[in-house]
Amino acid sequence: MEGELEKIAQWMMAAKRIIIFTGAGLSTESGIPDFRSPGGVWDRYNPEDFYFQNFISSEASRVKYWEMATEMYEPMKQAQPNLAHLAIAEMERLDKLDCVITQNIDGLHFKAGNSEAKVIQLHGTAMAVSCLSCMKKYERDEIQERIKQGQKAPRCDDCGGILKPATISFGQSMPERETQEAYHRSSLSDLFIVIGSSLVVQPAASIPMIAKQNKAKLIIINRDPTPYDDIADIVIHRQAGSTMASILEKLKQGLGTK
Ligand SMILES: [Zn+2]
Repeated sequence: MEGELEKIAQWMMAAKRIIIFTGAGLSTESGIPDFRSPGGVWDRYNPEDFYFQNFISSEASRVKYWEMATEMYEPMKQAQPNLAHLAIAEMERLDKLDCVITQNIDGLHFKAGNSEAKVIQLHGTAMAVSCLSCMKKYERDEIQERIKQGQKAPRCDDCGGILKPATISFGQSMPERETQEAYHRSSLSDLFIVIGSSLVVQPAASIPMIAKQNKAKLIIINRDPTPYDDIADIVIHRQAGSTMASILEKLKQGLGTK
């Protein structure tokens, strides 16, 4: 194990374009419940209420959606970045990060200190709300306040359009700019590190393959096995937080910043 962590730190020192790809496992280590797991929030709602088409066409679906979204938002808002988030933010300060590509919607990379320019949010963000008609953006807290005061499916101040958290729902297409940026950067990467993603949600999960096909080294740090373990250069089935903290320590020693 120590040998592998050492090797990763050495590869990081040599690499010019390091990409970190993060998924739900990173969020659960910060105490955010995995809403897909048995007994999770999703078990108590009808998934059909959350398809984008239904959200657009049915007021009843929107009311249900906001109920569930409100239930999921509170733990997300309270959550704090863990050691892995902090290590990734430190990589940016050390100029050892091309970008973070994340499937997470909780904004924890920003709370940890990464800058807006370095984080590509493939599935959007729960920290903002947008109007589906005029695209006006709102702070999530502002809209949650309206819900607390009794609005069940809030509407846009400017145009009366439907408001929705700025996340990507079932049946909603992936954000074009973010997806293209992720593919482009991955194709240029020379070291690609997956952290806390089981690499099963497509098309996001195919992104590490782009890097690998272009000769990047691929590292997977995830508690459970993934479909891409066989093609990875190093696989570590452990918690992300402690693993990333050890790697960061070795990286800093190597760079002489410690
Ligand atoms: Zn609007």
